[in-house]
Amino acid sequence: MTYSPKIGDPISTLDTPSMIVDLDLMESNISKLMSQLLPTGINIRPHLKTTKSVILARKLNAAGAKGGCVAKLSEAEVMCELGFTDLLITCEIIGAAKVKRLVELFRKYRSIKIVVDSEGGASAINEALEKSGIGEPIMTLIDLDVGLHRTGVQAGEPALKLARHVVGLTHLKLIGVQGYEGHLQHVHNREERKQMCLESMATLTQTAEAFREDGHNIEVVTTGGTGTAEFCVSVPGVTEVQPGSFLFMDTDYRNAVGTFYSNSLTILSTVISKQGQKCITIDAGLKSLTTDSGLAECKTVGYTYGVLGDEHGSLSWTDSPDLNVGDRVEMIPSHIDPTINLHDFYYAHRKGVIEEIWAVDARGKVQ
Ligand code: PLP
Ligand code: MN
Repeated sequence: MTYSPKIGDPISTLDTPSMIVDLDLMESNISKLMSQLLPTGINIRPHLKTTKSVILARKLNAAGAKGGCVAKLSEAEVMCELGFTDLLITCEIIGAAKVKRLVELFRKYRSIKIVVDSEGGASAINEALEKSGIGEPIMTLIDLDVGLHRTGVQAGEPALKLARHVVGLTHLKLIGVQGYEGHLQHVHNREERKQMCLESMATLTQTAEAFREDGHNIEVVTTGGTGTAEFCVSVPGVTEVQPGSFLFMDTDYRNAVGTFYSNSLTILSTVISKQGQKCITIDAGLKSLTTDSGLAECKTVGYTYGVLGDEHGSLSWTDSPDLNVGDRVEMIPSHIDPTINLHDFYYAHRKGVIEEIWAVDARGKVQ
């Protein structure tokens, strides 16, 4: 490899597009979250689907978080191999291939926790664990639909029925309930977001209580994201929150919840062509910045981004200073999680000097 950026290099020497992190801003996001949430006594189990990085998981734990969430089993495999094993997998594990992988992961790492939302899904894991000869049961949470309508059993009788089914399975140990209110994270009006969140939390905590009244031991009630965690922690009965995006933020989140947390991650890009008096082309297109939540923004205000294909984007302006071939710009992603998944490394800098380089360990792990 002829290209190997090093600690101490200025970011001006990085090739582009490069994913860069402003450490001062990122660290301030961490302290803001911790000082807002930790005094409530809540467990912070950050969602690592955002960073896909073990180093960042460790940094968050050093700051007061406990363990982490991953979305997918394949992310858990990577994190466990790298020594980070206190993980809740927040997506259902369905299908023979995945169940087999889960059993093998659990054989090595007993701290893995899973969620289930169907009797069939739970039974399949139970049968595979039975055959595996692993004596210990896997810690299991019931995934509850609190309004997102993505996964999760319905509250009331269906949830009770599923909980009874799970406690009847020898190789699953029911320890809690997960209810993620993803539909509320980007509700723009803070008061409205809060009220809707409290309704979802009522569904969640009442279900946890109903499980306890039914004789089940419910220790974990886990929920929340960047847009709602501050409300979730105020609800008695909630034990844990799962925010992820707060570390870096994105324009979609900033537009919805404001600037309490800063945009600390940008995609450094180079102007490679001039295509008009007030329009240039940069080397960051669809393969560097996702567009599902709108277009990325140039960190320097006054320049409007447009997509010109997989490898190219445009920046145009009216009154701002001219950009020219060779200039560099920083682009703020519109949706942080899928954007990070497009890059191999984070280059973390303080005031323009690279201080740390982190791999996106679980990049591409979507299974
Ligand atoms: N919990 C679950 C189950 C999620 O799917 C997500 C994100 O999609 C989060 C928590 C974290 O949310 P955010 O990145 O909005 O903080
Ligand atoms: Mn996301």
